[in-house]
Amino acid sequence: MEWRMGNIMQAKKMWIAGEWCDSEDGATADVIDPSNGELIATTPKATLGDVERCVQASKSAFNDSSWRKMDPAQRGRIMQKIAAVTYAEAKNLAKIESQNNGKTFREALSEIRYGAWTFEYFSGLSDKIEGSTIPVPGDRFNYSLRQPLGVTAHIVPWNFPLQLALRSFAPALAAGCTIIAKPASWTPLSLIAWAEAIEAADVGLPSGILQVITGSGGLIGDALAGHKDVDGIVLTGGVPTGKAVMAKASENLTPVTLELGGKGANIVFQDANIRYAAKAVCFGIFMNAGQMCWAGSRLLVHEDVHDELVEAIVTEIAKWPIGPGMSEGVRMGSLVHQTHRAEVLEKLNLGLSQGGKLVIGGNAISGDLESGAFMEPTVVTDVSTDNLLFQEELFGPVLAVTKFSTEEEAMAMANDSDFGLLNGVWTTDLSRAHRFARDLESGMVSINEYPVTFPQTAFTGWKQSGIGVEQSKDALNFYTKVKSVNIKL
Ligand code: NAD
Repeated sequence: MEWRMGNIMQAKKMWIAGEWCDSEDGATADVIDPSNGELIATTPKATLGDVERCVQASKSAFNDSSWRKMDPAQRGRIMQKIAAVTYAEAKNLAKIESQNNGKTFREALSEIRYGAWTFEYFSGLSDKIEGSTIPVPGDRFNYSLRQPLGVTAHIVPWNFPLQLALRSFAPALAAGCTIIAKPASWTPLSLIAWAEAIEAADVGLPSGILQVITGSGGLIGDALAGHKDVDGIVLTGGVPTGKAVMAKASENLTPVTLELGGKGANIVFQDANIRYAAKAVCFGIFMNAGQMCWAGSRLLVHEDVHDELVEAIVTEIAKWPIGPGMSEGVRMGSLVHQTHRAEVLEKLNLGLSQGGKLVIGGNAISGDLESGAFMEPTVVTDVSTDNLLFQEELFGPVLAVTKFSTEEEAMAMANDSDFGLLNGVWTTDLSRAHRFARDLESGMVSINEYPVTFPQTAFTGWKQSGIGVEQSKDALNFYTKVKSVNIKL
């Protein structure tokens, strides 16, 4: 699998019904390298007819039973092979990811390896999806079965394009479902390249079990969400998209898993290790140029250590060189697109007009990097809780800092958000750590570390951060239906 690395433009195809194909009307969309604005590929712009073909192929693949009725241990072995191919191709895929998304090669590599690890984890669960026997009155035998949900559509965002796709593919395949994947229009290349690698390796996945369709979210994403032959929809994306997908899915009462936005807070107390916290706070907001649902975009800090921590963060930012993701030593790449950067800067300036003190950053980067979508790491202090910098997801490298004086005030501030994905607490007081773990209104809490997750732990949002669970054994619930069986003896 040889891909461009030197600006050779590629005309990529979709993978439908086991064939690599163009859209039925031949329309294509441009894909660019956000670090320099150059065109690097085109992908098919699927039509509603292509969606229909894709859904019917997925339905036939599910109904022909070759996957759902396969010995589940054998499904697990095939998933192990997929993990092995993903590890083997990780460097190549990471180059593609870095070039298409703007993120650093190092970040892309660790994400893709994480995706392979997720496949390993779920491969071991494929033969452990069990029902129960249930004691009932009288001369009866009663048991439950957990059976595969069916055709699942996976609508993927642009910020972790391959890793988030693999995160939901793995439990779906383990449960015996079929997959229709739709990558984000800005970043389709790593998923297509991964599918090419899986097909070339001939891992034993029956035809039509996994398909990749490319095109506009508003057209084909919407059509998948509203299709009566799609049995489950998994969306990772923004809150407005989540609402649109859920409304569309409600037409057929199709179940959804929604992993949406976040406004994570790192809450730092006086007894925390300030130097270590400064590093983690930077990591939590400047990694992937802040384009993360679980970014720690709010810093709530005790007044006694506020100045010391802000100073340590400013010092730490000097260790975050910015540049093209493939360049040696770079820690922050470009944002995904100039359009997105313009939105981040607009929100930042609107927030600053509502108050707050700009300590560092705040600008697009000019000079040698002018043709890319680069932006300075930005820190704003004295952000009040009604400022949009405190309440809204900017999805860029912008840290909003707010002071607190008591534990109660910190808890109230942290929970003063429509979102509830990940929050971090920095303290050596064990009781306080547990109080926060219990009372923070978020699906994930991290103590003295930020951010962290594993394939075996739940990735889940409360409030407007989403519905359902990714990763962990709990993710399998979505991909299986429960059947209750009663037998009169
Ligand atoms: P987005 O909502 O714009 O797009 C996500 C996907 O949905 C894309 O593939 C897009 O084409 C598709 N889409 C757009 N409109 C659609 C519609 N009407 N119907 C069906 N599909 C449609 O999100 P994005 O800008 O790609 O990603 C950023 C967002 O994703 C942020 O809000 C971020 O917080 C969130 N996110 C959440 C998680 C999580 O696990 N909670 C992880 C990563 C990103």
